[in-house]
Amino acid sequence: SQRIKIKALLESGKTDIDVTIKGWVRTFRNNQFIALNDGSTNSNLQIVVDFENTDPVLLKRITTGAAISASGLLVASLGKGQTVEVKAKNIEILGDSDPEKYPLQPKKHSLEFLREIAHLRFRTNTFGAIFRVRNSLSFAIHQFFQERGFVYLHTPVITASDAEGAGETFHVTNFDLANPPKTPTGEIDFKQDFFGKATNLTVSGQLEGELGAMALSDIYTFGPTFRAENSNTTRHLAEFWMIEPEMAFYDLNDNMDLAEALLKYVIRYALDKNKEDIEFLTQRLLDEEKQKPQNERSELSLLDKLQFCLDNEFERLTYTEAIDILKESTPNKKKKFQYPVEGWGTDLQSEHERYLVEKHFKKPVILTDYPKDIKAFYMRQNEPDANGRETVRAMDILFPGIGEIVGGSQREERLEKLEQRMDEMGIPKEELWWYLDTRRFGACQHAGFGLGFERLVLFVTGMGNIRDVIPFPRFPKNAEF
Ligand code: ATP
Ligand code: MG
Ligand code: MG
Ligand code: MG
Repeated sequence: SQRIKIKALLESGKTDIDVTIKGWVRTFRNNQFIALNDGSTNSNLQIVVDFENTDPVLLKRITTGAAISASGLLVASLGKGQTVEVKAKNIEILGDSDPEKYPLQPKKHSLEFLREIAHLRFRTNTFGAIFRVRNSLSFAIHQFFQERGFVYLHTPVITASDAEGAGETFHVTNFDLANPPKTPTGEIDFKQDFFGKATNLTVSGQLEGELGAMALSDIYTFGPTFRAENSNTTRHLAEFWMIEPEMAFYDLNDNMDLAEALLKYVIRYALDKNKEDIEFLTQRLLDEEKQKPQNERSELSLLDKLQFCLDNEFERLTYTEAIDILKESTPNKKKKFQYPVEGWGTDLQSEHERYLVEKHFKKPVILTDYPKDIKAFYMRQNEPDANGRETVRAMDILFPGIGEIVGGSQREERLEKLEQRMDEMGIPKEELWWYLDTRRFGACQHAGFGLGFERLVLFVTGMGNIRDVIPFPRFPKNAEF
């Protein structure tokens, strides 16, 4: 009989057929019952061993973590929590696992412990569920854009531009570290680090993406992004994946509509495709919540939160309106904000963002029209308001439990305004001559945004730390595997 994956086998609803299953042993009880998992689902398949007629040497090798192949008759099961089991006719050990040394014992391990053995954590139910959900979300993102005629454009990983101008870039060097090129004052000359040119790993594909949109109309990128910021938070990584669509002829409202539709589409897709995994993660969180005092427990379960996000329109308001709300508010009766809102013009801290989303509106929020001075140079400038305040057509989408999940804007398409802003901010125009060309030849209204993929996976899985939703997390001092 052909090898079949456990998920497909369970979904087929068949019994009384011969099957072959390959996977890793989760537990082996009473020399008789193997719980076998192959990663296709969290449901283990029970393999019943005919121990009286099985070589005792082979029985000893069926240990937690071992890879085995089991063939036999699939029959209905009377066991609790399973509909079928396999009456084994033949068991083959494919790979032994020393039970003394195998770090994953059949018990609940803490996430901290599992982070230390991130190379093996794929074999746990929690991480199996997370990475299957992550897979579905990434597929759904492509499907959403492909259905709408967007072109998937691959933007470079090695680039000379720092789109955000935040200086959080990793240099790319090919020079001999023992003998690097030096500046006249004796320091390493990073202006020559990549075959004589200064380059870094991309912090965003947006500027290149705009070039694509100015010909193909609608494009999106979906690739790894690198930021050398101090990423010791539960929301930042040094390497993360970003989805960046860029659309010609869109204004800020079209941009917000697209972002909201995308988020709802992919969440709905995962809820449908990964029902079992999301239910597992929901239960996992409920168990965790039980450890907390009553008043700190979340009112909504993970499933409720996801459904709530689908059923409600995101609240849209301006930064200025948000500041007015925050000035009037305290997080609860006793506590004040750690960073009181000083007034108009400063960036919001995550405690403010989370207050707006979790306490005030109790749903996802889109903030628009931020002060010009706290946003990037490429954002479309508004006319100053009656008080002379200058804003740009920016939008940030804020999610419960996450804070900022999307950052975007309508882009400044007027050459003169753009150049003026670059001068004010000290951004060298000569280095971005190619970008400015899009404003010289057929410039038009356009907009786009960046969606942090891991923040999306955090939201959908209900996990609390971004390091747990990417297979190989990169953060300060962590890049071994
Ligand atoms: P934050 O304010 O959270 O630092 P940002 O404003 O610096 O984010 P943007 O430049 O707007 O981020 O990037 C677009 C999106 O990429 C963000 O909305 C967020 O979802 C995601 N993102 C940004 N930095 C990181 C990071 N270091 N790790 C993971 N995701 C990130
Ligand atoms: Mg940042
Ligand atoms: Mg931000
Ligand atoms: Mg941002």
